[in-house]
Amino acid sequence: MTKLTDQGLLKDSSYWQGQWHKADNYFEVTNPANGKLVAKVADASAADAEKAVAAAHAAFADWATRPAAERSKLLMRWQQLLLEHQDDLGLLLTLEQGKPLAEAKGEIGYGASYLEWFAEEAKRVYGDTIPAKTSDQRIIVLKQPVGVVAAITPWNFPNAMIARKAAAALAAGCTFVVKPAQLTPLSALAMAELAERAGIPAGVFNVITSTDAKAIGDVLTRDKRVAKFSFTGSTSIGKQLAKQCAGTVKRVSLELGGNAPFIVFEDADLDAAVEGLMASKFRNAGQTCVCTNRILVQQSIVEPFTEKLQQAIGKLQLGNGTDDNVDIGPLISSDACDKVDKLLNAAVAQGATLQCGGKRQATDSLFYLPTLLTGVNNDMAVAQDEIFGPVAAVQSFDDEAEAIALANATESGLAAYFYSRDIGRIWRVAEALQYGMVGVNEGMVSNPTAPFGGVKQSGYGREGSKYGLADYLDLKYLCLGGL
Ligand code: ADP
Repeated sequence: MTKLTDQGLLKDSSYWQGQWHKADNYFEVTNPANGKLVAKVADASAADAEKAVAAAHAAFADWATRPAAERSKLLMRWQQLLLEHQDDLGLLLTLEQGKPLAEAKGEIGYGASYLEWFAEEAKRVYGDTIPAKTSDQRIIVLKQPVGVVAAITPWNFPNAMIARKAAAALAAGCTFVVKPAQLTPLSALAMAELAERAGIPAGVFNVITSTDAKAIGDVLTRDKRVAKFSFTGSTSIGKQLAKQCAGTVKRVSLELGGNAPFIVFEDADLDAAVEGLMASKFRNAGQTCVCTNRILVQQSIVEPFTEKLQQAIGKLQLGNGTDDNVDIGPLISSDACDKVDKLLNAAVAQGATLQCGGKRQATDSLFYLPTLLTGVNNDMAVAQDEIFGPVAAVQSFDDEAEAIALANATESGLAAYFYSRDIGRIWRVAEALQYGMVGVNEGMVSNPTAPFGGVKQSGYGREGSKYGLADYLDLKYLCLGGL
């Protein structure tokens, strides 16, 4: 394995109660670019998860009652350590996940930006006083941390999906237990190491690594000591976990799958649209929940637009994320490649045209060629399922009403994008799209100042922004009488 400057960031055990815990069994973490072993990591059990929850529960009272300014300082210190070790953390992330190193380092910066944001927000958790109905009463609203927060996170952003949940939770005064994806536990463990170095107290930030997602998930969603559960992952698992949380009436945040439309109207700046689309479609090899899934192009400009798009796709460099000048790394697994193959084959069988790509670089590799598919329609599986791969699937529409109808014809409602230079159309379309986030002449919308989250079956709750702390705070109403 390429060497980290600070080998202390490579951890192989779960972390709770401020300590590293070995296990009877260890599982392998491999590099998707070449299949090589990166590390073996302790396979924690359900009993271990219970211990982590107990640690978070025990640490809560102290953490919750510390002055916000103190929690803020510790989060800031943690953020600084992430940035100081950005190169190592980026490398570790590329090795376990595959994305190009520049993108991986970008993710560390992005994750750190949530720590900074919520460190600042921690100091501004204001309550209310409300005019009372009678003169002998006063009404006050306090905001208090909900308690222990448990989280389950996916492999596509091994650092940032944890950072943005933990930052908000810790800022609010909650303690935190996360189970990262089995494929990418190392970034999570490196975060725990840096949390410890930052002086975050024992039990406040805990990580459980395991191959038994179901058993760990059972503990995190059913244990009475967990007050809130936050999940980023697939819609089907999210629904299942939300049901499990109902048994103890936990507060739940879900950030589930998307099916982002990218609409290009005939009045758009086509070069800007192609640029925005390339960023939105091919980032992380197409493996993000806000990646463009359907490209809707107005009929009159389909030809010039697809030509420009194909040229841009032709320039993409596929390769091992640790090599220079790589735009696209491998997909995360062979199953992921098979799924893309299946969607493409079905679309072609139903009349779509493959313009380029459409297969793995070599039969046994996880590198999938950047692909352009035209003549798609909204009923095809490639337009209804999340592709999660480097496939640009283009369909056409005649007018604005049809574009909106097609864009909204999905159960998902996470991110949408459109390009137009007509101010009236911009307002109409922005308001009509049934999505939690809309990029207007912009292909990248996510940052800590803005509320990230979806509507419909893409979930509920918001991460980042001035709204992001609300998911981790309870309102308490005090009625002072007899004054
Ligand atoms: P993805 O397609 O991104 O892998 P998943 O929903 O399968 O989406 O995985 C997201 C996270 O959910 C991962 O950490 C995974 O281990 C976890 N997970 C998968 N199945 C379950 C389950 N039955 N119970 C709890 N967690 C699960």
